[in-house]
Amino acid sequence: MAEIAHPLRRSVFRGVAGHCPACGKGPLFWRYLKVNGRCEACDTDLARYPADDGPAYLTILLVGHLVVAPMLFFPIVWRSNPLYSLPFILSALAVLTLAVLPRVKGGWVGLMYALDVRGSDAVLHTANAAD
Ligand SMILES: [Zn+2]
Repeated sequence: MAEIAHPLRRSVFRGVAGHCPACGKGPLFWRYLKVNGRCEACDTDLARYPADDGPAYLTILLVGHLVVAPMLFFPIVWRSNPLYSLPFILSALAVLTLAVLPRVKGGWVGLMYALDVRGSDAVLHTANAAD
């Protein structure tokens, strides 16, 4: 695989591929969405880069705008009997969402790594300003 020169893009693409954003060799996840505490290859502390709800929101945005909205342009979707079409459409969307979510989360962790955003930066959040 050709190496991407730009550090931000390289980290995001390594994360999307499910690899450590620092070295691109170690696995990013140890389970479906569980980020490894440390990279097995380069020992980077991957647990300090927060994902929170960002990947879920982005996945909903992507699937909703790029799949659901264009799907409504096909008359067969809204003319068919929902009893027959909804189970097929909803199960296909669930499979697609579950396939996209780990890639988005990997890219998100790669972006946090490239921007050096850490979990400890949460104190900068305006909702916590009164603390
Ligand atoms: Zn690594």
